[in-house]
Amino acid sequence: MAPLPKKKYPKARQRQRRSHIILNLPHLVPCPQCRTLRLPHRACPVCGTYRGRTVLKVEEPHRLPGQR
Ligand SMILES: [Zn+2]
Repeated sequence: MAPLPKKKYPKARQRQRRSHIILNLPHLVPCPQCRTLRLPHRACPVCGTYRGRTVLKVEEPHRLPGQR
């Protein structure tokens, strides 16, 4: 027989325990070139620069939401 919990966990207890479970969001830093949020230690996917140098060829300039 499989081990079973002896008592029912109240919803409040269960929720209290789960209050510490959080989604880990990716850490984002603003790009110094175009100020869009990008991952740290990665070349910017929007302007293709890393540490002030162009390291990626960006085929099409990305249009940011709200930008004309
Ligand atoms: Zn950028």
